[in-house]
Amino acid sequence: MQPSLEKLRKFFRLEHENSYSNTAVIGGLANILNYWEGEARNDNLPEDVVQATVQTLHAYADQAPEQRAEALISLWKQIQDEVPEAAAARKQTASRLPASEPEKAEAPARQGNPVEPPVSEEKPEAVPVVEAPAAASADTPPLPAPQPVPPVHQQADPQKNRPQANPKGKGSGRADSRPGGVTSKRPIALNASLTVLAGVGPKHASMLTRLGLNTLGDMLYNFPRRYDDYSQLKPIRDVFYGQQVTVIGTLTMVDSRQVRGGKMSIIEAVINDGTAGLRLTWFNKPWLINRLKVGEAISVSGTIDQYLGRLVMNSPDWEPVEAENLHTNRIVPIYSLTANVTQLWLRKLMHQVVVYWAPKLTDHLPDAIRQAANLPELGTALLQAHFPDSQEKLKAARQRLAFDEIFFLQTGVLRQRRDYQSVAGRVFEVENAWLETRLSALPFALTNSQKKAIGDIRLDLKSGKPMNRLLQGDVGSGKTVVAALAAAMINQSGAQVAVMAPTSILAEQHYRNFLSLLAGEGGPLKPEQIRLLVGDTAGGEKDEIRAGLADGTIKVVIGTHALIEDPVTFADLQFVVVDEQHRFGVEQRAALRSKGTHPHLLVMTATPIPRSLALTVYGDLDLSVMDDMPPGRQAIETHVLTPRERERAYTLVKGQAASGYQAFIIYPLVEDDGSGETPSPLLAATQEHERLQKEVFPHLKLGLLHGRMKPDEKDAVMLAFRDRKYDVLISTTVVEVGVDVPNATVMMVEGANRFGLAQLHQLRGRVGRGEAQSYCLLIPDHEDAAENERLQAMAETNDGFILAERDLQQRGPGEFLGTRQAGYATSLKMASLSDIPLIEKAREQAQALFARDPDLKNPENALLSEALGRFWGSTKGDVS
Ligand code: ADP
Ligand code: MG
Repeated sequence: MQPSLEKLRKFFRLEHENSYSNTAVIGGLANILNYWEGEARNDNLPEDVVQATVQTLHAYADQAPEQRAEALISLWKQIQDEVPEAAAARKQTASRLPASEPEKAEAPARQGNPVEPPVSEEKPEAVPVVEAPAAASADTPPLPAPQPVPPVHQQADPQKNRPQANPKGKGSGRADSRPGGVTSKRPIALNASLTVLAGVGPKHASMLTRLGLNTLGDMLYNFPRRYDDYSQLKPIRDVFYGQQVTVIGTLTMVDSRQVRGGKMSIIEAVINDGTAGLRLTWFNKPWLINRLKVGEAISVSGTIDQYLGRLVMNSPDWEPVEAENLHTNRIVPIYSLTANVTQLWLRKLMHQVVVYWAPKLTDHLPDAIRQAANLPELGTALLQAHFPDSQEKLKAARQRLAFDEIFFLQTGVLRQRRDYQSVAGRVFEVENAWLETRLSALPFALTNSQKKAIGDIRLDLKSGKPMNRLLQGDVGSGKTVVAALAAAMINQSGAQVAVMAPTSILAEQHYRNFLSLLAGEGGPLKPEQIRLLVGDTAGGEKDEIRAGLADGTIKVVIGTHALIEDPVTFADLQFVVVDEQHRFGVEQRAALRSKGTHPHLLVMTATPIPRSLALTVYGDLDLSVMDDMPPGRQAIETHVLTPRERERAYTLVKGQAASGYQAFIIYPLVEDDGSGETPSPLLAATQEHERLQKEVFPHLKLGLLHGRMKPDEKDAVMLAFRDRKYDVLISTTVVEVGVDVPNATVMMVEGANRFGLAQLHQLRGRVGRGEAQSYCLLIPDHEDAAENERLQAMAETNDGFILAERDLQQRGPGEFLGTRQAGYATSLKMASLSDIPLIEKAREQAQALFARDPDLKNPENALLSEALGRFWGSTKGDVS
């Protein structure tokens, strides 16, 4: 069929679905005539068909629905009479129009008809969601039928499938296209391609692709970046300067003039709403002169400005008041754009898509859950999230959509957890006496949290299931010794342990700790059974370590990602420890694990997370929280200084150095804004190192450490600092992670406003590790930034959990949770992980559901199961 007729058919059909409400096209069906006439002539349609169409559509808006139905049907009949191609599609279209035969008699006509929404019997599965994209063939009307073409054998005899169609009433929601029927609840193809949408050709589709919008589902879930609230209509008399308003009035004057020698044109108009007049001005939009007509009513939205003492509105959005007030007079969504896509065009398209499709979505959330959580239906939520009727409805909509995300996340991790536990883990049991001996060999008594964590791990190891435990403890809480003791429990029966740390400095530090904890005098291991494997371990030594791991003579290997390089194999790897786990990607952790058969896993993090959040994001892992610190630590004194007070900081550093202590001075990476050339990250640390050495601390020894140095250079500097060869270490944040220098008492952070709270807290954790009073000095790079809320929070508390919550609120979870969260970033569009009440609600529901139907096998959870699959589709299985 000719494309222009195809379009007509599409819109007529849509009109029918919409009960002839003249909403198939935004602004009314007649709007298509702007372009349709030209296309129709291009298609060589008979002139009287073109004329009849033009007349019918022009008259359409003013008719009652019955008249409209009649008009469209007779127009289509005329078209079929005159255009053979349209006649071929006769049955299909006729059957959709109201005058057609009763529902049952239609069934045979459906055969081979890809246009008709398939009734459920055409897809006998229990799940009434259609996932196949619309066939792109020219016979398939784009809108609204991105249903799959039923397989031929089913089409051939739909009656045959009928008996199994509605055993549970499943199909009832689909029989919605019957004349006058309510159009709702038909499962739709979220993955239908965008070219099926009215007004979207291949060219538009490629523009949308650049916005990441490839399917109908992408569109529905393409939420506005923000909203402009024009919903507060005001009498013009009451508006005031600076207000953002929508007013409606009649144009009493429209004028255009040229200024700046014709370089610029100005359109001026006045509208009056009976209470007062308001002057409107548009710049460089000369075409408006033909569209704004004195005497016509329009609505305008914008900000009230002032010109020569009068209130004016500059370049307001406007539209005739008969229209749907889509762009004004309501809360208007603002979408992200890309080149060649205008807000107006996209918004119209979104409106068309959302208004049509959202109500037709079948909610994947079972009613019971939705009601228990007191949430609106999915269709309503999507509609309101795009084109909200009020702020309250918008809020409810966002809650609903956020709930889905958290709920999916939680359901996914619960499954993950079950999967972990579905395999056997080797049992490792230790005697109390053995543990006593190990504990008494330590240079200190364990804190209560450490004891509790050890107890948790001990239970895990004898459970017969692989351990999957997250050990969460603030910096300095003493996680290493817990990991070392756990390792000893494994080694005790001869099995192997791998410990992976994000940097070689940290790996080396762990190596030393493990050596002294496990291979000291009377320790369970010999020093040569514990080895360090990092990127720049010498080639010969690497070979030797690999051989030792492969034949089982080496019991503990500590290293960096070098551990997961291919040639490393283990004789019997039973325990994997990942330190600072947020620094690793999912794949890296999985890679290390895969070197053993279901080894026990302990991941450690110093990133404090509110418990409910941890249970959601890390719900697949068991959680041990270490919330008390080894004794004897003094709270670190934190001060926020202005740049002018920097001298005070230097004085403190000098004083501490004179007493034999050491200091860190941290610099952010800053953008070079000097030359006007392409900005490049500038290492402030390098420049400052020179200046400080010459001008500020000429009598002290200053070291320099930054990420651009080679790993062995970094290690050398770090080790020299630890061995007190430097008084002050000038560094970037590479020292952030886990390095232990108990003699350091000052952490001075320049450009502190550039760091997140969690990161600042980590940095602060580098000091205060010994007995001496330690200091953290935060210097933002502007005077006024000294008021920076985040920095004050640092000064107010040493509690990582409190800071974590503030960081979450201020920067969002992406920054905060690191790599793990990054994987979800695309999935979590609505949910704020700082909305703890919502998280708890979703978690409760997910748990209850999981307890009832873990595999979502019950029919009422079928849709949910599919939605869950979509949500997790792009995310890897192993999320630990
Ligand atoms: P983190 O949890 O940040 O990894 P570490 O394991 O590096 O902390 O421990 C920090 C410091 O505290 C180390 O010097 C460690 O030896 C020491 N430490 C650990 N546990 C105790 C304890 N129970 N009593 C005293 N000092 C401890
Ligand atoms: Mg640590």
